[in-house]
Amino acid sequence: MNHVKDFADMDVYNRPKVCPECGGVMVFKGCGEYRCEKCRYIAYDDYGKVRNYVEKHRGVTAAQAAEATGVKQKTIRTMLKESRLEIADGSNSYLKCEMCGTQIRSGRVCPKCETAFNRALEEKERQKREKMMAGFGSERGGSEEGAKRFIRDK
Ligand SMILES: [Zn+2]
Ligand SMILES: [Zn+2]
Repeated sequence: MNHVKDFADMDVYNRPKVCPECGGVMVFKGCGEYRCEKCRYIAYDDYGKVRNYVEKHRGVTAAQAAEATGVKQKTIRTMLKESRLEIADGSNSYLKCEMCGTQIRSGRVCPKCETAFNRALEEKERQKREKMMAGFGSERGGSEEGAKRFIRDK
């Protein structure tokens, strides 16, 4: 699976990858919402934050949403351009999923491909963590051994 590479430029909304509470992998639930697979902590990416805010405060401007959520106005404009935020639709032009070519109404990829992208990203994150832990363990072991050897040699 090489999908993550293809989707690399999709990861622009500061997707939470690791749980701030326990360090677990954050799993995509849909609509910018992510849940820790270990402790169920819920976090949102920029899209989720803005979406929640806009839903509660109908008719806000991009500037107001930016100030309230801390998300950059530029990012919000990108969302609007991609129609990730459905504001006054009614357009008759259909978009195509950038991955599979299915017709979609908003965004850049269809929900199926978005989920696939996130699953691949989560898997990559898990592997990265495993590798990191393995590397950390052996590194520490190595230096301890080195320290002991140093003392012995002295
Ligand atoms: Zn957690
Ligand atoms: Zn697709």
